[in-house]
Amino acid sequence: MTLPDHLTTDILIVGAGPAGLTAAATLAPRCDIEVLVLDREAAAGGIPRHSDHPGYGIRDLKTFISGPAYARRLTAKAVHAGAHIRTHTMVTGWTGPNTVEVTGPEGRQAITAQAIILATGARERPRTARLIPGDRPAGVYTSGQLQNLVHLHHRTPGTRAVIVGAELVSWSAAMTLREAKCRPVLMTSTHHRPESYAAFTLSGRLALHLPVATRTRVTRIIGHGRVSAVELENLDTGARRIVDCDTVVFTGDWIPDNELARAAGLEMDRHTRGPLVDSAQTTSRSGIFAIGNLTHPVDTADVAALDGRAVAEHALRYLSDHPTAASARQFRVLPGDNLRWLSPGRIDPAIAPPRNRILSWPTRQIRMPTVTIRQDGRTIARRHLSWPASPGRVFRIPVSLLAGASVEAGPVRVDIG
Ligand SMILES: Cc1cc2nc3c(=O)[nH]c(=O)nc-3n(C[C@H](O)[C@H](O)[C@H](O)COP(=O)(O)OP(=O)(O)OC[C@H]3O[C@@H](n4cnc5c(N)ncnc54)[C@H](O)[C@@H]3O)c2cc1C
Repeated sequence: MTLPDHLTTDILIVGAGPAGLTAAATLAPRCDIEVLVLDREAAAGGIPRHSDHPGYGIRDLKTFISGPAYARRLTAKAVHAGAHIRTHTMVTGWTGPNTVEVTGPEGRQAITAQAIILATGARERPRTARLIPGDRPAGVYTSGQLQNLVHLHHRTPGTRAVIVGAELVSWSAAMTLREAKCRPVLMTSTHHRPESYAAFTLSGRLALHLPVATRTRVTRIIGHGRVSAVELENLDTGARRIVDCDTVVFTGDWIPDNELARAAGLEMDRHTRGPLVDSAQTTSRSGIFAIGNLTHPVDTADVAALDGRAVAEHALRYLSDHPTAASARQFRVLPGDNLRWLSPGRIDPAIAPPRNRILSWPTRQIRMPTVTIRQDGRTIARRHLSWPASPGRVFRIPVSLLAGASVEAGPVRVDIG
């Protein structure tokens, strides 16, 4: 079948992961609007499609199911709501302010939409981007690549693996390795304690008999043809040792899939490295929204999904009012020294961000953090929060702490200590 050269729709969603599918399922039944979702993969569902372990759907679907089951359920909800989902279809660029160019099995096509929602997710940076020296053998993966190999292509990675990182996804990688009969022999973390929740780390260690080497970094990958070992360095003593393995999995170290946002010329947030969004998830270009891990790399799938639910209301308002610019009554929020990023990066005091939370990414572990909000040289709020902060997982800050900020007083700086 040949596609028409040009198609128009009311709302175009790029990315059929939890964020995009939930936005589609919320928007499609409303006011007879036409919603088209595009995804470059063979099937809708995003990362959960190949993350075959329980842990999905807690906050959005009030359930606890595996990634593939969650992906199927979100896809079914979007289709049932009346959204059209096209897979094998990649958005490659822009030919106008609200027109994208897509490439799929039937050829190329331009699609114009009244509003466009970018939900392209985030990926882990591969070994090359982390500048790890050594040989260039096979057997080196990110956890996403590993899960793709095992769950979608039913292949075996190797027999002995070292996992670099001790975040939540690192344990997900450990479970995948075990399922694929590849023994995880060591997990490493550059921090004093594993980045994952203590309960998670303890049960992971007990169930998988997997030691975690803290304050440790990989200094070299060794192997000709196939990985045969990694060289590790203790960051406190400088001592180095060789660990035999035929598989190395790099986990965490996320970067948003931001190419389309950049190609559109949207203002980027240099901290998240995704498009800068306000509390209505509007980017710097009116009518273009961004949600999910593209804007907070990375949170759990249910939080990405709830972004999708929240953006629906803002996209519908845009369709009915067509405001030409984002509200000027906003202030910028910037991370302090102990936070790598904050999302959303702009707050409109009249619009609550999804779940009334500002999401942030700590740069160090703080057991009992105090959040400090400063604007124009003075502290406007300080509050102790009862949940620990750790690099490798999102730290959530109630937006109510910013209630004393003024849109006239310049950027607000948020930090934890
Ligand atoms: C190993 C691992 C384990 C995890 N475990 C859990 C867990 O147990 N529980 C949990 O809640 N979360 C977990 N997560 C996190 C969860 O998977 C993500 O938070 C969630 O998938 C983010 O949803 P998203 O819609 O923002 O992005 P994604 O799921 O990444 O979806 C983005 C989609 O956009 C598509 N896309 C990108 N660019 C284009 C383009 N140009 N054209 C067309 N399509 C495009 C991609 O193909 C993809 O399908 C895990 C993640 C990983 C990597």
